Amino acid sequence: MANTNPLREDQTLCARGDHTHAHGAIVQPIYQSATFRFESTDQVEEFNQGNSPRYMYTRYGNPTLASAEATIAALEHGDRAFLFASGLAATAAFCHATLRSGDRIVAASRLYGGTPFFLNECLKPLGVEIEYADFTDLDHLATILPGARACWFETPTNPTLGIVDGAKVATLCRNNHVISAVDNTFATPINQKPLSWGTDWVMHSATKYLNGHSDIIGGVLVAGNGVDCTGVEKVRKGTGGIMDPHAAFLLSRGMKTLALRVERHNANALALAAHLNAHPKVTRVHYPGLPSHPAHEVASRQMRGFGGMLAFDVKGEYATAKRFVDGLKLIANAASLGGVESLISLPILTSHVHASPEELLDADVTDATVRLSVGIEAIDDLRDDVDSALAGA
Ligand code: PLP
Repeated sequence: MANTNPLREDQTLCARGDHTHAHGAIVQPIYQSATFRFESTDQVEEFNQGNSPRYMYTRYGNPTLASAEATIAALEHGDRAFLFASGLAATAAFCHATLRSGDRIVAASRLYGGTPFFLNECLKPLGVEIEYADFTDLDHLATILPGARACWFETPTNPTLGIVDGAKVATLCRNNHVISAVDNTFATPINQKPLSWGTDWVMHSATKYLNGHSDIIGGVLVAGNGVDCTGVEKVRKGTGGIMDPHAAFLLSRGMKTLALRVERHNANALALAAHLNAHPKVTRVHYPGLPSHPAHEVASRQMRGFGGMLAFDVKGEYATAKRFVDGLKLIANAASLGGVESLISLPILTSHVHASPEELLDADVTDATVRLSVGIEAIDDLRDDVDSALAGA
């Protein structure tokens, strides 16, 4: 069944953003102010009672952030969005708001490396039990969800593009009263909308596609319709991990071209994946848009486009992969992803640098695996760069 996300709605939403600004300004200005003046103490009282449209202090909220939050909430079909200083600050705030000592969170075994780092090193010592599971094994998941408080997964997964059936996992979570959260960083709301699967929360590293220009660090949590946000709001206010207004301005600016950029990322990545799949110096390509991907059917059902991320194994050992990466002229060897420029990295040196051999096997990462964030450059230039580096590797 073809995915029917309303791209038309997203295209217009992105270009216009949240467009109700003071003085008729077309763009929400940067309110680079730590604090906001009240005209009277009555207004302070009203603010404290929670029925005031005013702002008090930027750690609690700021008009520049509110504008970007409104756009993201609309793109994800959510109730409210909350911006954070980084993606991990958003993840941490969700956990802090949702979990108490003695609670259990079921987390996918395939996740961005920073997430298990946070879960194991920062959350577990507070008495929260972390249980990892293969989220493609739904029968097993059904046996461990009862009694859990929350569940966390991503799809496609970083770095080898595994696909989780989001609607099936969301249903299992609902049936077991487990609060579900999805990291939608790789796909973007243009390619999939996890709240429509029935999940409770969506998280993004806004550092990546939402901003799209590799010039900010940021994160966001989006609450599904009717989901209680008071805990997340309290944690953001109480721990202070909120985004800076200047970053929020750059995020809003970036999102104006999100739909356009993602269409190009999708097209470039699909073309490059198909090219690499037929290349004699490549042994495997991980890309959900390829019919050979083990979950291509699930991806086709839940994604409108397959995204700009792909991974592949260079034929040979680590030394060959290293020569390949070092031989690239256009594509930069850098961590991060989702910007207009193509970036490449070796997961065993970045996201999986501390992984054990078993964890590498589980993540489908070898020492010849490279992860490529395909940018919006001319596809012929990307193909030429990859071909000449493979020839020299
Ligand atoms: N989720 C995914 C899928 C990521 O790739 C990253 C960062 O690379 C994060 C979360 C963390 O985001 P940030 O670096 O903005 O804290």
